[in-house]
Amino acid sequence: MSAHTQAVGVGTGHCPLMPTYGPPTVMFVRGQGCWLWDRDGNRYLDLLSGIAVCNLGHAHPRVAEAVAEQARTLCHVSNLYATEPQMQVARALDRLIGGSPGQVFFANSGAEANECAIKLARKWGGRGRHTVISAGRSFHGRTLAALAATGQPEKHEAFVPLPEGFRHVPWDDITELERAIDGTVAAVLLEPIQGEGGVNVPSAGYLRAVRELCDERNLLLVLDEVQTGLARTGRWFAHHHEGVEPDVVTVAKALGNGMPIGACWARTEVAAAFNPGDHATTFGGQPLAASAARATLEVMEELDLPTMAARAGQKMQAALRSLDGVAGVRGRGLLLGVDLAGERLATEVVAAGMAAGLLLGTAGTTSLRIAPPLIIDDAEMDHGIAALDEVLG
Ligand code: PLP
Repeated sequence: MSAHTQAVGVGTGHCPLMPTYGPPTVMFVRGQGCWLWDRDGNRYLDLLSGIAVCNLGHAHPRVAEAVAEQARTLCHVSNLYATEPQMQVARALDRLIGGSPGQVFFANSGAEANECAIKLARKWGGRGRHTVISAGRSFHGRTLAALAATGQPEKHEAFVPLPEGFRHVPWDDITELERAIDGTVAAVLLEPIQGEGGVNVPSAGYLRAVRELCDERNLLLVLDEVQTGLARTGRWFAHHHEGVEPDVVTVAKALGNGMPIGACWARTEVAAAFNPGDHATTFGGQPLAASAARATLEVMEELDLPTMAARAGQKMQAALRSLDGVAGVRGRGLLLGVDLAGERLATEVVAAGMAAGLLLGTAGTTSLRIAPPLIIDDAEMDHGIAALDEVLG
């Protein structure tokens, strides 16, 4: 066993956390850029960034300073009142999403951003037009409605009955989608690239065909960019690769670079379906989280983070493909699914990576998910690739 796994010690004795995640195997105490340190001082290269959250790397000084300054100035009021950081983040998101002007509802997480999108679709659709169609193998979060939208029946089983009004169709299949539409359908909800479900990139033209179908049948196109948004795939939003204009976009994860904040953006005419009192949250977009998001978006724009992610993604993909232990690579930018040669189990490789000081994720039984901070430099990528090669060897 390496120093990295000997450092653990948090999986023994009585764990005070509910067993929803399995016993934790490491306790981190510090992060900087692409690196994390555990409590015994062991260093890890983070190729997962808190699952596509710390796109600017850990403890980014501008985000840290923004949070500290905001905490000293105004930590929280209520969504009954306006605050400057919230307004500025909403405007920035609207500009970065582009296309028709829109409005934002702030939430605290991806699931909550999707919850807002689902309620908006129901309100927009009106009585009897409430069904949301989503895709098999999709992931939209763990609240009951977001779970119902998630196209993974094994995650539903223990929690039935789930809310009604959700229907699933095979991913990347426009014919089946068309067949599933009836008079009760209000919206189609899709990830532009499926993240949790295995980093599944749809065929070229699929999203455009879905957009056309939604236009023909007067349905909302809701895109869940919680994982793919904010430069992760080499564009500000993954749907920008396809040139489609969604009606609703949800984001979270990278928006606060680690501070919890989510957002549901909708075209202004669609957002108009909501009236005061239809939806609310105490903390969504509160000043501390919004100031982190404001700083995050400012730094992302200054760095031109989408271009950095696209460039680093190309290098990372090529390097991964050159490894003997890798059977294939899919994804875009720095959201990558890596098929392991010889049907090796991803969980075993993740554990071996951890022991070697390398944080990796899974993307299905025999695939890894690689989603490093988008500021990763060439030397860090070389280090990660060499370490992975050793782990796989
Ligand atoms: N949507 C997508 C595409 C996600 O990847 C996730 C989380 O992984 C969620 C929604 C749920 O986000 P959260 O965990 O912040 O509720």
